[in-house]
Amino acid sequence: MSRDDPYHDVKKYHMAHLWSQKGDVSPLCADKPRKINLSRELWTIRPEAVTCKKCLARLAEKKAAESAKGAAKP
Ligand SMILES: [Zn+2]
Repeated sequence: MSRDDPYHDVKKYHMAHLWSQKGDVSPLCADKPRKINLSRELWTIRPEAVTCKKCLARLAEKKAAESAKGAAKP
């Protein structure tokens, strides 16, 4: 139990990664695409709104990879 979530009713925000034709969304932290259960979790496309630690870690990895790529350019 954390101070920010005393009643465990704060939903986790995942970074949306894949969309199905039915409108289901898979989070960035899923190794295999899975449906986000909207009664328990939410998704966003704004990196600053993401609260899922796994998604944040993957976003950080991506950012690091991109800046490494950028640094390699002449
Ligand atoms: Zn996530």
